[in-house]
Amino acid sequence: MKRTKIAKLFDPALVGQEVSVKGWVRTRRGNKHVQFVALNDGSTIRNIQIVFDMAQFTDEQLKSVTTGSSVHVEGILVESMGKGQSYEIQARTLEIYGVADPEKYPLQKKGHTLEFLREIAHLRPRTNTFGAVLRVRSALAFAVHRFFQERGFYYLNTPLITASDCEGAGEMFQVTTLDLNDLPKTEDGKVDFSGDFFGKATALTVSGQLEGELGATALGEIYTFGPTFRAENSNTPRHLAEFWMIEPEMAFYDIHDNMDLAEDFVKYCINYALENCKDDIDFLSEMYDKELIERLRSVVDNSFARITYTEGIELLQNSGHKFEFPVYWGADLQSEHERYLVEHYFKKPVIMTDYPKEIKAFYMKQNADGKTVRGMDVLFPRIGEIIGGSEREENYDKLMARIEELDIPMKDMWWYLDTRRFGTVPHSGFGLGFERLVLFVTGMTNIRDVIPFPRTPKNAEF
Ligand code: ATP
Ligand code: MN
Repeated sequence: MKRTKIAKLFDPALVGQEVSVKGWVRTRRGNKHVQFVALNDGSTIRNIQIVFDMAQFTDEQLKSVTTGSSVHVEGILVESMGKGQSYEIQARTLEIYGVADPEKYPLQKKGHTLEFLREIAHLRPRTNTFGAVLRVRSALAFAVHRFFQERGFYYLNTPLITASDCEGAGEMFQVTTLDLNDLPKTEDGKVDFSGDFFGKATALTVSGQLEGELGATALGEIYTFGPTFRAENSNTPRHLAEFWMIEPEMAFYDIHDNMDLAEDFVKYCINYALENCKDDIDFLSEMYDKELIERLRSVVDNSFARITYTEGIELLQNSGHKFEFPVYWGADLQSEHERYLVEHYFKKPVIMTDYPKEIKAFYMKQNADGKTVRGMDVLFPRIGEIIGGSEREENYDKLMARIEELDIPMKDMWWYLDTRRFGTVPHSGFGLGFERLVLFVTGMTNIRDVIPFPRTPKNAEF
């Protein structure tokens, strides 16, 4: 008999029919006449209740049906008389795939802390919380593709191994096949990478943007969606060493088109989750964050505030609020500043533009004032920066001047500069940290809890 996923069982048309379900036992209770098992198969946050009439089953059989055990049950789906569920299955057959020893299986009943669950990240997807988070994450990934595909963007795969440091921040994981215990050296004592796998020093990518610009100046509108690596030693609830980034890059977009796209994009994804992940979001809201749904709706229903960096600095200086970090023109905004603007002043997401060029990357389009660049950050309640982007400097001479000012090694950049040498166009793009979006939508507070296997400083378990 064909298996029905539990998500598909809650259907009046199936009542009275024989069904086959397979899954993992959440709980078992009952007495010598009747036993009730809550079964979950990961397809939904909801469990199906299975009723075992003990006239038809032996105690010996049911003894193995412990929390975490995997079973296959066939029986009739009926409307439930009991409280807390609408349907249940009256079991006719029971097959046990694998027992989970109650003395050893760590996920007994409920109430584990998120911290404890991080230590058993290999099993935590079997909990309600992580089941919900991972289903929402999957739905959001689908929404990302759907949004861009509906608009005629092409999905471009940019390399994970690269010889250029896009952000210029030097926070890269090196990739090498050289013997670290016996490194070849050049005459001046540096490591000689000429014998390395790629014949030069390489690292894991911190961004696919530079290659994305090559795609955009050929295909028009592209997006990337892939793993990104940053060896930043920042142990915060918002940074991972390995995270997923979505980077659209568009020819013929100025900063305003870029802002419009960013706003439409995040609203689309959040709305998709609200429409398609109701059970999971309701559960997360109930458990962790009573205002979650209201907050998500409010982001979808209201337009984002748009201000320049200079206006933002003035607002902060006139706020009368005491900040830990000083506020002055030229300062890189700290998350306390961003959150003040978003959560207290505007009470909605804020897109901030036109930053001092000193605090932004070399590729951002320079404004006529000679001081600011057309960068934009999208700032979200509870998250801070969720998107960073810009209009790109498309003028070859201006871009070169900036590269020289910042002393960026030129010989590695020739291929990038070709975009400006041959048929350069105004263009823009941005990067959205996927886990920050998942954080926002699920109401979780630590980024380690929205990716199945987090990579953070001193942690690469599982
Ligand atoms: P932050 O200031 O928060 O460290 P950033 O300015 O370094 O971020 P960008 O280089 O602009 O980030 O990257 C684009 C987006 O990628 C960010 O807006 C954020 O959503 C996400 N992001 C950046 N670094 C990380 C990280 N270490 N872990 C998870 N997401 C990240
Ligand atoms: Mn940024």
